[in-house]
Parts: sequence; structure tokens; C-alpha cells
Amino acid sequence: MTDQSLLSVGLRCRCPRCGEGHLFKGFITLKPECEACGLDYGFADPADGPAFFIMMTMAFPVTAFGIWLELAYDPPFWVHVVLTLPLLLLACVPVIRPLKGLFIASQYRNKAGEGRLAVPASSRAS
Ligand SMILES: [Zn+2]
Repeated sequence: MTDQSLLSVGLRCRCPRCGEGHLFKGFITLKPECEACGLDYGFADPADGPAFFIMMTMAFPVTAFGIWLELAYDPPFWVHVVLTLPLLLLACVPVIRPLKGLFIASQYRNKAGEGRLAVPASSRAS
């Protein structure tokens, strides 16, 4: 197993350990494990992380554009249906998958997981 580039495997939606297996079986549904190296994807839980970043970087500016368009030109409703809505979908949907892949690769690389209570070394059973 070679050390895979975080950006390379994440944006290509590949297994963060081997870089060969696919992460998703649908659009953003995670496979249970890598078909190439058997890595269990149970560790992967990016939760709302990708959605949050897409919302902050893509959805808000496009929504602001739609509001500006409405306030500046007062167009009929169909203008928003044929311009603002497709623009919003084009800005947000294509980046969901690679961003989720990047988050999962980052979780794997940084061994990120849920927080646990630390147990002092002196109280551990020996
Ligand atoms: Zn793999």
C-alpha cells in the first residue's frame, strides 16, 4: 500500500488507503468496504460537513444573486425558474461527491472519529 495523496483520492472518490477502490455505490451512498483492498468504510462519517461547505461557498452566493436579480429588475417568476434555480443546482450538485470524498479521505488520513473520554494511564488495568 502506498501513501495516497489526500486530494487525489478524495476528489476522485477513491479508497483513501489504496487509491483504487471506489467510495460510493450510488451518487453519494457509501460502499461498506473497498473492493480493492477491503478497507472497512465504517470509519467514514462526514455528516453535514460537505453540505455546510457547499452551502457557504456555492449556495449563498447564488441565492444572493437571485435576490439581487429580483430586487434590481423585478423579473417575472419564470426568470428565476430558468436562471436562478438551474444556476443553484449547477453550482451545488456537481461538487457534493468530490467534496464528500475529500472529507472521507481526510478523516482516514487524520484518524478522525467521535470524541472519547481520556482515561489516565494510572487508572488503566494492567
Ligand atoms: Zn482500498
